[in-house]
Amino acid sequence: MGQQVRCGQGETQQLGIIGFPLGHTLSPLVHNWGFSKFGLDAVYTAWPTPPEDLESMVERIRSEPIAGLSVTIPHKTAIIPFLDSITGLAHAVGAVNTVFWRDGKLWGDNTDVAGFAKPLAVRDVRSGSALVLGAGGAALAVIVGLQELGIGPLYLANRTDEKAEELAAHFDINFIPWAERGRCRTRILVNTTPIGMAGKFEGLSPWNKYDFEKGQLAYDIVYNPGETRFLREAQSLGVNVIMGVEMFLYQALEQFRIWTGRDLPVDETRRLLEQALYGT
Ligand code: NAP
Repeated sequence: MGQQVRCGQGETQQLGIIGFPLGHTLSPLVHNWGFSKFGLDAVYTAWPTPPEDLESMVERIRSEPIAGLSVTIPHKTAIIPFLDSITGLAHAVGAVNTVFWRDGKLWGDNTDVAGFAKPLAVRDVRSGSALVLGAGGAALAVIVGLQELGIGPLYLANRTDEKAEELAAHFDINFIPWAERGRCRTRILVNTTPIGMAGKFEGLSPWNKYDFEKGQLAYDIVYNPGETRFLREAQSLGVNVIMGVEMFLYQALEQFRIWTGRDLPVDETRRLLEQALYGT
C-alpha cells in the first residue's frame, strides 16, 4: 500500500499524473527534481488513463506502493466516488486534482485553490471586488480561492452566458453577461479562459485594453506563453499583473508538501519551471 514519501522506506514509492489524453506536462519535472533534491526514493511518471481504466487505476493505487496522484481532465470529478474521503476544499470545488494517503485512507484534495490564491496572498491582496472570465473547470477553483481569501463581491462572465448564470447561482456570486463584461469595473480581473494560450488563441485577449483601469490587478491563469496579450496590454497601461506560471508553481509546491511533508524552495522551483517553459 502507498504512504507518505519519506527517507529510507526501503521500497521506491511511485507517484504519477493521470488524465486523458495526457499532453505534455511539467509535473514530472518538478516532482522528480524535488525527490532528488531531498534524497527521497520516489519516482513520478505520466500515466495516460482513459475513462474506462479509471476504476482499475484506483485499485492499483490501493495494491501497489503508489504514494499519490495528480489528477487532470477528464477525471477530476469522476475519481471522487473511488476515494475514501475528500477535503473540504475538494468538496467546495467539486473536483480533485491530488490523491494522497493519510492513516491508511485514500484522500482527494484540490491544490488548484491554494495554487491560485497563494500569489494573491503573498501580495497581500485579500479584499476588493473581482471579475472572473470563463466558467470552465479552472474557474471553480479560482472562485473558491477568491472566496477563501475573503475577496468580494465576485462577478462571473462566460462566453456561454447560461453556464455563468448557473455557476454564479451555485456559488452565490453575481452573473455578468459576456457582452457586458467590459462595463464591470472591479479591482481584480482573472482570465480563466484559454484565450491568449499558445496555439489557435495566441495573440488574442478576452478583455478590451481600453477597459483596463489604473489600480486594477490582472491575473491570467494561462501560463504558456508567460506573457499573454491580456497581461501585456494590462502592463502597458500601468496595471499590476500576475502570470499563470505562479498558479502552476504554487499548486505543485502544495502537492509536493502533501506527499512528502517537505517544502520545495519557491524561487528555485520557479526558475526550473521558467527555464522549461520559456527557456529563460
Ligand atoms: P475548460 O474547462 O475547457 O473551460 C474553458 C472556458 O473558457 C469555458 O468557460 C469556455 O466557455 C471558455 N472559452 C473557451 N474558448 C473560448 C473563446 N474562444 N472565447 C471565450 N471563451 C472561451 O478549461 P479549464 O480547464 O477551465 O482551463 C482554462 C485555461 O486555464 C486553460 O488555458 C488552462 O491551461 C488554464 N489552466 C491553468 C492552470 C495553472 O495552473 N496556471 C490550471 C488550470 C488551468 P464556454 O462555456 O462558452 O465553452
